[in-house]
Amino acid sequence: MPDQQNYEKSDLKNKLSPLQYWVTQENGTEPPFTGKYYHFHEPGTYVCVVCGTPLFSSADKYDSGSGWPSFRDALAEGNIELREDHSLSMERTEVRCKKCGAHLGHLFDDGPAPTYTRYCINSAALNFIPAGKDTTSSEEKREQSKR
Ligand code: FE
Repeated sequence: MPDQQNYEKSDLKNKLSPLQYWVTQENGTEPPFTGKYYHFHEPGTYVCVVCGTPLFSSADKYDSGSGWPSFRDALAEGNIELREDHSLSMERTEVRCKKCGAHLGHLFDDGPAPTYTRYCINSAALNFIPAGKDTTSSEEKREQSKR
C-alpha cells in the first residue's frame, strides 16, 4: 500500500465520523432503518461524503422498504463504479464513488420499472445538498450588487 494512500486515510479519520469512515473506507453497512436519509424526502442532490461528487438525485429516490436510501437510477453513470462483490457468501454488485473509491452500497435488480435497478446506498456515504441552494446564493449576490 503506498504511503500516500495511508496518509490520506488518516486524514479521512479526522474528516469523517467513525460510521462514515467504516462504511466508505472499510465497506461497512449502517444498520437498517437508522440512516439519516432513510426517511428523508427533500428535493436536492446527494453527493459523496468523502469527495463531494454528485451521485444521486432526490427525483430518483423512492421508498423500497429495505431500510436504506434507495434510488432507481444514478445521477451520472460516469460518477459511479460497479464491482463484483463476493463477500458474505453472496454474489452482489458493489457501488463505489468513481472519483475517490468510497464504498457507497450495492446495486440490485429488484427496483421499480422501467429500470428495475435499486441502488441501495448507505446514508453515511452521502451528504445532501438542498435544491436551489446555489441558485439562492447567486440570487442573493445579485440582489446585493443592485444596492
Ligand atoms: Fe467520492
